[in-house]
Amino acid sequence: MPPTALKSSGIVLQPELPICQTDLPLDWYQSEFKPYAEEYLALPDRKPSTVLPWLDGYVKPAQAHFGDALMLVAHFYMGGEIVKLVERYGGSVADSYQLALQAQRHPEKKVIVESAVHFMAEAIAILAHADQQVWITNPKAGCTMEMLAKDWMVLPVADQLIERYGDDLVVVAYMNTGGRLKALAGRTGGAVCTSSNAHKVVKWALAQQKKVFFVPDQHLGRNTARKLGLDLSRVVAFPDPQLGRGALRVDEKCVPGGLAALDRAQMILWGSFCGVHTVFKPEHVHYWRERGYQVLVHPESKLEVVELADGEGSTNFLWDAVMNAPRGAKLAIGTEGHFVRNAREQGKLRGVEIVHLADIPDPAYQSIGCGCATMSRNDPPHLAGMLDLLRKGVAPDANRVLAGDMVDETTGVRDRLDERERAGMIADARASLERMIAITEAK
Ligand code: SF4
Repeated sequence: MPPTALKSSGIVLQPELPICQTDLPLDWYQSEFKPYAEEYLALPDRKPSTVLPWLDGYVKPAQAHFGDALMLVAHFYMGGEIVKLVERYGGSVADSYQLALQAQRHPEKKVIVESAVHFMAEAIAILAHADQQVWITNPKAGCTMEMLAKDWMVLPVADQLIERYGDDLVVVAYMNTGGRLKALAGRTGGAVCTSSNAHKVVKWALAQQKKVFFVPDQHLGRNTARKLGLDLSRVVAFPDPQLGRGALRVDEKCVPGGLAALDRAQMILWGSFCGVHTVFKPEHVHYWRERGYQVLVHPESKLEVVELADGEGSTNFLWDAVMNAPRGAKLAIGTEGHFVRNAREQGKLRGVEIVHLADIPDPAYQSIGCGCATMSRNDPPHLAGMLDLLRKGVAPDANRVLAGDMVDETTGVRDRLDERERAGMIADARASLERMIAITEAK
């Protein structure tokens, strides 16, 4: 099994540095959370010296109430201050893979409160023990890549592929999918993967002479094919799912190159993407390299950027690169903006200069690095409200995360499986997660 020790972000809250998180409009909050948002918005400023005493008034009573049974978790891509706040209250910050294992590895934690996006909370719920509850501070916090790969979009296409290729097709589901797609991978004998082990999982599938249907990120899929040295003419990507809106047909017209290309393909990619990681361009790489920076990017970036970069890898890989860089090193990092901001603070403490790959001080480049806006829908009022409502026993069901829930991130409404369906879905999704762990850990 992989190591699960979580790293500290190592970031320290500076009492007089304002919280860098844009206030959400009041009408974006669920009705139960509005009182907390009103109080927060009425605070005179966003300095931790102002925000923390207010937050303490809700977090500390909840911690006293739940004791050791409470666990707070957040993702590295959260706005820096939520990362710091969660750590300040004894919580943990990790990437999606490590987050997924937290409930399973800590059976003593019964109430797990997540400040990140829904698929991450759901992955925790899939692996959780029956007496553990998982809550998300804002149900509208979704991953845009996952939002373009809902089960009602992907399953009809998967059915057509299975009809055409039968047992020769295996589904590999990136961690950034809902549980229902992880279960699809399990049903086809496939596995989940992360950005750090995608090459191992796809290699394992190809070694069985299987055709791989890789969901949802076309860029990670293509970069994985490149890393494995596959012939990219045998990698076919479906069109942007926004064009089909759930009605993609596996036919001559819809498949680039037609059915002959599909039959030849070793990998078939769902056409989703991350809006945050696809802003990077080759000219960004050239710009920073000419100025002496080493360029490192996340593999959700486009192929032409990954090919030019000095290195590519997962969130953990990038964080380790920052932490292990020698004094005087200069790194341009192509990934989510809040992560780079946190990394820059860490780098400064150690004499390492970090810039965001798309933050170029020249208007000719017309692009700036952005953070994951949907993940940042988890803000201090959501954390305060979630913990206070849980303590009072009146937390809204919309914030409870059960395996198999499919959320509409615009409304926050959940489509929930019945108990029998959920049990079947969990069994299939766990099989795909456990297969990933077995493949990753195999000697
Ligand atoms: S950064 Fe991109 S892939 Fe990651 S959670 Fe946000 S939208 Fe999804």
